[in-house]
Order: sequence, then C-alpha cells, then structure tokens
Amino acid sequence: MEAGAVSREPPPRIDASADVVVIGAGACGLAAALKAGDAGADVLVLERDGSASGSTSMSSGFVPAPATRFQWTAGIEDDTPDRFLADIMAKSHGSSHARLAALAARTIGPALEWLADRHGLEWIVLDDFLYPGHSRHRMHAVPEKTGAALLARMQAATERAGIPVVCDARAVRLFVDDLDRVRGVELLRPDGAAEIVGCGALVLACNGYGGSRELVARHIPEIAGGLYYGHAGNTGDALTWGEALGADVAHLSAYQGHGSLAHPHGILISWALMTKGAIQVNTEGRRFSDESGGYSEQAVCVVSQPGGVAWNVYDQRIHDFALAFPDYRDAVAAGAVIRAADLSELARATHLPEAVLQETFIELEASRSGRRKDAFGRDFSSLPPFEAPFCGVRVTGALFHTQGGLVIDDNARVVRPDGAPFPNLFAGGGAACGVSGPNVSGYLSGNGLLTALAFGFLAGEGALDRSLN
Ligand SMILES: Cc1cc2nc3c(=O)[nH]c(=O)nc-3n(C[C@H](O)[C@H](O)[C@H](O)COP(=O)(O)OP(=O)(O)OC[C@H]3O[C@@H](n4cnc5c(N)ncnc54)[C@H](O)[C@@H]3O)c2cc1C
Repeated sequence: MEAGAVSREPPPRIDASADVVVIGAGACGLAAALKAGDAGADVLVLERDGSASGSTSMSSGFVPAPATRFQWTAGIEDDTPDRFLADIMAKSHGSSHARLAALAARTIGPALEWLADRHGLEWIVLDDFLYPGHSRHRMHAVPEKTGAALLARMQAATERAGIPVVCDARAVRLFVDDLDRVRGVELLRPDGAAEIVGCGALVLACNGYGGSRELVARHIPEIAGGLYYGHAGNTGDALTWGEALGADVAHLSAYQGHGSLAHPHGILISWALMTKGAIQVNTEGRRFSDESGGYSEQAVCVVSQPGGVAWNVYDQRIHDFALAFPDYRDAVAAGAVIRAADLSELARATHLPEAVLQETFIELEASRSGRRKDAFGRDFSSLPPFEAPFCGVRVTGALFHTQGGLVIDDNARVVRPDGAPFPNLFAGGGAACGVSGPNVSGYLSGNGLLTALAFGFLAGEGALDRSLN
C-alpha cells in the first residue's frame, strides 16, 4: 500500500495500542514523545527506517531561541521573544504565518530549557558569528555542534524515559472515524507484513515532502532540478494524509535551500564563512550575487549559474575560523577544500580564469575600501582584506527541506480551513506549516529545528489531554 491513505472504516484489528502514537523519530517526534511521556502518557514512536536519523541528524543542529538562560549566562542580551519574532518576519518580508511565527518564537526558549532541565540536554550558544537576519546571538547547539549529536542525545533521553521507538515501521494508513478522530495507524514492515496500532492521539512528525520528486515538482518547480540533500524517507506522508482529511495546508512552495554544498562531495560548507567575508564566483570567475543575503535563497542563484555550480573563495583567516565546524573539517578531510599559496595557484587548481579572478579580487578590494559601491549591494566595509594563502570549494545549490505543510492551532492540533481543530491529530516540524512564508528567501537560519522542537513540545503537551484512551 502507498503511504498517505486514509480509511473511514474501523480498524479490522488492533495489534498494539498507546495513548499517544508519534510518526517519525526526528527532533519533532522525540520532543513530542518526551513531553507526552512526562505527562504520564503511554507513548509509542513509529519510525520507517532501521534506525532513527531523519533530516535532524543530517543538520548542523543549530536551534535559534530567544531569552534563554543559556544566553543570559553567556552575557547575551536578548530578553524577549518579540525581537526574534521581528527577525523571522523581516526575513520573509512579513509573509510568514504570523500566528505560527509568534507561537514558535515564544515556545522555543521554554522548550530548550525543558530539554535541559528534565532530560539532561546541554546547550551552548554560538556567539562568534551571526547568520544573516538574526539580530542577536541566539543559535543554541549541543556541545558537539552537530545534528547527529542532538538526535543522539534526544534518543538517549527517550530510552531513559522508557519510550519505545519502533523502527522499520512505515506508517501507511490512518483509520479515522466519522467525527474525524484518528483511531489507529497501519504500519508496514520491510517484509511486507502489516500491523495496526491503536492510538488515543496521533502526532505527525514525519517531516515534509523533499523526498518526493513528484511533490517537489508540483509545489516548488524552481528547485525541482536541484539536489535534494535532506532525508530521503521524508516523502510527504503527513501532507498526503492531511489533504485527504481536508486539513488546511499553507506555504507549500516554501523551503530551506542552501547555496553551499561541496560538490560532488555532498558536504555542507557553513554559511558562517560568508558572514566572515567569503565570496562566491561562478566558473567564469565572476561574483553573481550579494552573499550576505542568506544561504537559502542562494540555492537558486547557484543552481542557475553555468553548470549549476559555484566556487566559495576565501582566505586563511576564514579557513581557520571554519575549522571550528565539524562538517568543514569533514570537507577538508574529503579533499573538497583547495588551498593555494596565491591567486595564480588558486586559479590553476580551480580552473577559474586567472585574469577574471584577479579582476574580481580588485573589485572586492575597491568595495571594501569604499572606493566603489559593490555591484550586488554587499557591504564589505567591516571585513578585513583577503590575504594569501587562499582557499576554494566547489559548491552547488540544494533543497534541504520543505517548509510548507499542515496548519496547526496553538496546541499544535491540525486544523481545517475554517480553523476548527481535528480532535486528536497533531503535527509539528516539517509536517506542519513553517514560519518562512511562501518563498525560499523567507527562510531564516534555524527555522527548521525551531518548529521541530517548539511544535513537537506543544504537540506532546496537548496530546495526552486530547487522547481518546
Ligand atoms: C544538511 C542540513 C542542515 C540543516 N541544518 C539545520 C540547522 O542547523 N538548523 C535548523 O534549524 N535546521 C536545519 N536543517 C533543517 C532541519 O534538519 C529540519 O528542519 C528538522 O530536522 C526537521 O525535523 P523533523 O523532526 O520534522 O524531521 P526529521 O528529522 O526528518 O524526522 C522525520 C522522521 O520521520 C520518518 N518518517 C517519514 N515518513 C514516515 C512514515 N510514513 N512512517 C514512519 N516514519 C516516517 C523519517 O524517516 C524521519 O526519521 C538542516 C537540514 C539539512 C538537510
């Protein structure tokens, strides 16, 4: 059976049941499971893969949150969610779903503190660079600074809480009664065996539709030709169920893109390099955009360059800074980072035309020193000049995850177009409508894990109350 089916018949049998069933064991699903478990619910998590990983474990694991005690301890002044909300709305030029953005902005701080206090997660705040659009240092990460470590820590907490995560269990069909109450979930095992789990409440935490070529082509044609670099198993099942049930959906054209994926190595090169002064040139050696705008929209700019690739170019100072990032160190180890003693050597190693590259460097210095205005409007005035040796990484643009999805209420319950909630159906993370508006440029760094953890927290909180068991 194809996933995404809805049956209006009663389940023919129940093989197991739980107060709260969660579909998907990423950041959203585990946050929901832990929160529901804290409230005393009997919780079961279904995960299609043999072991949980999801997009969460592929991510950098950076979570933006305002007004946290971790910021306060680090001496960062960011004392209200309002400023964060203003940053979210400014990045999307006011087109984010305003209620959901406010909900996420005020929930994420308490959610991170709860994960620390109740489940032992440690948070550090990244305070040595600002992603475009963030007016304060508010990116939180676990000490390892990777999404894999974030997920591993959440998995360990789930295990300590005694919550079963059933792997190799792909949810394919929902059993929904005449009052739109979800009564059970059919799952398929890899050998084709089917099982039915009864549920008091259901949380959809199975992310978006980046893994479905068909859904990407339908909703986001501008990136359909680009690489998908998120978790392959996120094939839009929540969206398909929601649409079959008549749920409200929004911003299906929204997504997180990224314009800096080492190619062909497939390793993320952090946009933090750009914030320190790196530039991007195309294979002709020419810059083509304002790199300080944001990595998400840059995906489309890079994909539309000759060959769909670009080169990140920077110097030793930026290279040394970047070595703090685990994925950058992976890129160095994989041979993706070319190092050159001077510009001629860089041109030879990258096959970029030396004369044009030279011209690009001269223009850059002129913009930096204020002798001319940058052709793309980037402000280089506060950045030090490039100094040899230089580095180059060939990159491409990619789709990281989709941001559109099911509209939820303030308790993370899925709603109908008239705003009325489904009685016991919840959603969060990439399954829900995000806070980036309808365009790629609306994605403020961290909007992904923001709604995964904040809405997962709310779904877990509400699910036991709404459980039919
Ligand atoms: C390279 C990369 C870097 C990123 N960096 C950041 C970052 O630093 N900060 C940030 O905020 N965001 C980042 N993101 C985005 C972030 O990873 C996602 O927004 C976030 O992980 C979504 O969490 P989730 O729990 O909704 O989904 P996921 O973590 O993808 O979990 C969904 C789970 O559901 C499972 N599943 C799917 N369908 C079914 C089904 N039918 N039955 C059972 N299980 C199912 C999947 O196998 C998966 O395990 C990044 C993304 C990528 C790809």
